[in-house]
Amino acid sequence: MVKIRTKKKLGQHFLNNEEISKKIVSSHINRNNILEIGPGSGALTKYLINESNNFYVVEIDDDCVNLLKKDFKNLNIIKEDVLKLNFNNLFDDKFSIISNLPYNISSQVFFKILDNKDFISEFSFLIQKEVAQRICSTSGNKTYGILSVLLQTYFDLEYLFEVSPDEFNPPPKVNSAVIRGVRNTRNDIGIPFKLFKNIVKTGFQNRRKTLRNSLKSLNLPETFTSNSIFSKRAEQLDVEDFIWLSNEINKNEP
Ligand code: SAM
Repeated sequence: MVKIRTKKKLGQHFLNNEEISKKIVSSHINRNNILEIGPGSGALTKYLINESNNFYVVEIDDDCVNLLKKDFKNLNIIKEDVLKLNFNNLFDDKFSIISNLPYNISSQVFFKILDNKDFISEFSFLIQKEVAQRICSTSGNKTYGILSVLLQTYFDLEYLFEVSPDEFNPPPKVNSAVIRGVRNTRNDIGIPFKLFKNIVKTGFQNRRKTLRNSLKSLNLPETFTSNSIFSKRAEQLDVEDFIWLSNEINKNEP
């Protein structure tokens, strides 16, 4: 039962099915150094607090924080906007993140994870179904995009299960799904992540264009853009292709 007035602008849709809460928590592998984003009234928190070492929650909403303080005596609560939270010195070691994410900030959270990928070992998120499908999509699919490439570069992703709107209070207008990302062993891609991100973003800016056109702003020499890879569209390149292309661009940039 939800004990507070929910706020739409904070993406507050509280899970009201205990079995689904348990299923999300049990699909999260890590039990050490966990950060929960947006605990709300504690639907996941109650299953995490007793079985995790070094467990923190970050919640932006005062009403939720007060409720959590009452219901969970020894909970480490950070009252903050997760997008402003410094991930660097939260834990001594790598950590994992779990959340029924506020859908309005899910893309920003994923970009934050990418910027902090060296500290993050795993994430398990309940998110909008379309976003989950896009992120887990592979090359050649219409839904394959910037976040699919960037996240799959550093995380092994799994689309776990779907959750219908009736399982939330209030029900969202969209369907939801749970995904898990486990940090893979890739560290060095040969170029700075910022440059890689920029090339992937620019490549996808107009999905219908060939890379020769979409990457025009990079002013690459014609001797290089005559390579057949430039006749493809961004959605046709897998992660390895993007890494190769980005390294070649780095060498050939004027
Ligand atoms: N975990 C609870 C559950 O499963 O029932 C609540 C999930 S609800 C979808 C999202 C939660 O994130 C809300 O408690 C909301 O207040 C919180 N939230 C929204 N924006 C936030 C932000 N920028 N930083 C931290 N928490 C945020």
